[in-house]
Amino acid sequence: MNDARRLVRVAVPVPLADTFDYTVAAEMLPSLGSRVRIPFGRSERVGIVVEHPSNSTLAPERLKPLREVLDAEPALGAELLQTLRWAADYYHYPVGEVLNHALPGLLRQGRSLDTAEEGWRLTAAGAEAPLDSLARTAKRQAEALQALRESADTAIGEDALRARGIMRHTLARLADKGWVERAALVTPAREPRLEPASLPTLTDDQRRTIDAVASSFGSFQPHLLHGVTGSGKTEVYLRLIAAQLAAGRQTLLLVPEIGLTPQLVARLRERFGETIAIFHSALTERARFDAWRRAHRREADLIVGTRSAVFAPLPAPGLVIVDEEHDTSYKQQRGFRYSARDLGVVRARALRIPVLLASATPSLESLHNAEIGRYRKLSMPARIGRAGHPRMRVVDLGQHASRQGLSTPLVAAIAAHLDAGNQVLLFLNRRGFAPALFCPGCKAVEECARCDARMTVHAKSGELRCHHCGAHRPLAMVCPTCGSERIPVGAGTQRVDAELAALFPGARIARLDRDVTSRKGALQTVLSDVREGRVQILVGTQMLTKGHDFPRVTLVGVLNADQGLFGTDPRSHERLAQTILQVAGRAGRAERPGEVIIQTHYPGHPLLNCLLSQDYDAFARLELDERREAHWPPFSHVAAWYAEAPRREPVFAFLHRVRAAAESASSSRRTVSVLGPAPAQMERKDGRYRAQLLLQSPERAPLHETLSRVLVAVRGAAETRRVRWSLDVDPIEL
Ligand code: ADP
Ligand code: ZN
Ligand code: ZN
Repeated sequence: MNDARRLVRVAVPVPLADTFDYTVAAEMLPSLGSRVRIPFGRSERVGIVVEHPSNSTLAPERLKPLREVLDAEPALGAELLQTLRWAADYYHYPVGEVLNHALPGLLRQGRSLDTAEEGWRLTAAGAEAPLDSLARTAKRQAEALQALRESADTAIGEDALRARGIMRHTLARLADKGWVERAALVTPAREPRLEPASLPTLTDDQRRTIDAVASSFGSFQPHLLHGVTGSGKTEVYLRLIAAQLAAGRQTLLLVPEIGLTPQLVARLRERFGETIAIFHSALTERARFDAWRRAHRREADLIVGTRSAVFAPLPAPGLVIVDEEHDTSYKQQRGFRYSARDLGVVRARALRIPVLLASATPSLESLHNAEIGRYRKLSMPARIGRAGHPRMRVVDLGQHASRQGLSTPLVAAIAAHLDAGNQVLLFLNRRGFAPALFCPGCKAVEECARCDARMTVHAKSGELRCHHCGAHRPLAMVCPTCGSERIPVGAGTQRVDAELAALFPGARIARLDRDVTSRKGALQTVLSDVREGRVQILVGTQMLTKGHDFPRVTLVGVLNADQGLFGTDPRSHERLAQTILQVAGRAGRAERPGEVIIQTHYPGHPLLNCLLSQDYDAFARLELDERREAHWPPFSHVAAWYAEAPRREPVFAFLHRVRAAAESASSSRRTVSVLGPAPAQMERKDGRYRAQLLLQSPERAPLHETLSRVLVAVRGAAETRRVRWSLDVDPIEL
């Protein structure tokens, strides 16, 4: 090769091989982490430079020159590039796709990092334009003009305008008239926020926690904070973030949900103003790009977001915080199945900064890590305010009558709390009216044609719906086979809602589940109605368990604890304990003491006894002992291999092939055990048969070596082409 040319290895988001070599003039050599435009097959792609190799496996005449270097400064900094390459190895996922994950869509498409956000502003003619007559002829144009007049000389971004219902084509009309023009947005200068004078005086626990984390600033140290709900964890985050801000360093704060906890964002904005960049799944591409760029340029010192925010650029890193670290939403469940919590720790290590994992119900993995000294354990066992811990009791459904999921003692308690002027929260992890429609004539329930599942009755919309594939059909109460009148069996949130309306005719009742929140704006309405006391009883699903702070809720009812008691998943007890304690944590948060009622058919179950004493540590010790006995994580390392296809046979053929490959790859060591293949919990879903194979090892290294070898062995195999498969390292559901 000509001396004036150099080689670059480029990661490209394609599923097969994932890095490709190109040449470039030596003086143009892009740094690692830079985006480049390359010829690819008959088209062109944007890829990321991951190496400067000295040789290529390709013959020199087959090497093509790259077309363009897109970044002067690499889009992915050295640490992020290193972490992502580590993640590609660890999760056995193509590096091109992994790198792609870390970049906003616009950057993946090649958008320059230097383009300023476009906005619109008023022209001199626009300031004089006759608004009144415009309002009569073109209402939308008048609204747009009015909005821009209010901001005077400052341009408003397109996203901000769109959020107010002002669309680009309306602005284009106004531009044609010469009344508005495009303008670059100037990022508002960073105003140093003064600490509000009214900051609460920290409790001793908060002080101790903050000091412990602060003492590790500037070096890698994971901390696990076990702080009960309402113990003041958020205030701890705020103080730590403020300390980082004062030192000119960035904090990455990961949260499970943003939509469900608008108070958190409000609190952050109040404290830190404009230095926040927010990432979540509902952002427009443009907004995501802007948030990314503000983090990249250090215009944002606090980066807050859900799972994918763990890939945010942190040029001035100070601290990583993972709120509610036990939450399953941190694990991506398809494609690149990473854990944002775990990658948060990996990044902190690479960046040599502390990481704070916090929860009222920490994951058993993290508790174990604290036990063996890998994490430093901190705890805040007391609640702030006078309410104290809620009183918890069990109602034995075998002993008490119940109607539509509401037992007599629970109904009496609801009445008492409503009489006292308080609010009630009822948790039931089942949406719809009833989970089954039963025909007494045929003795059969109606099932989904495409899933091994029952159709759920949705009374409001008059439909039967499958919650697994989305199939729906009209609800016919008369059995099409025998003509009998059919019966909805069991209760979902809709039915409980209807029953409550009959029992408490004066009470205002609201529902919070995915059927409700699929309507735009409905989530915010329900949350503010509860917070402001317009709703007295709230019935909802898992959504209720997420960090809400409803000060007037004094009674929490768990309508059916039994779903989690006998689950086949080794983690079902952990999930149930977390759910119950999280939802219980909504009771009695401010000055009013709370009460929690758990309905069950198994009042003597040891798990429930443990939870009644509200000793999560005791529960965790018991559960960890069981996991140790059974060799489950955290006492072993597990990977799951999933496969699915329209027929059963190729699924099992493939997984047997994987099994054989795994056995021969690990035969010399015998440290990796292979379990399965076994049908999935719901074998048929959306018309496809699903099964899985588990690989388990007491040590991490042999498991990963086996996975690598199996991947090589099965990639080319004939069985592989007949199924859809995926590999899940550290699965959270089994
Ligand atoms: P958590 O995140 O642990 O559930 P929060 O940080 O939201 O708890 O605190 C619960 C409530 O107590 C909030 O309303 C918060 O404003 C208040 N709070 C937090 N710390 C203090 C403190 N040191 N003194 C008084 N109130 C506090
Ligand atoms: Zn029938
Ligand atoms: Zn279905």
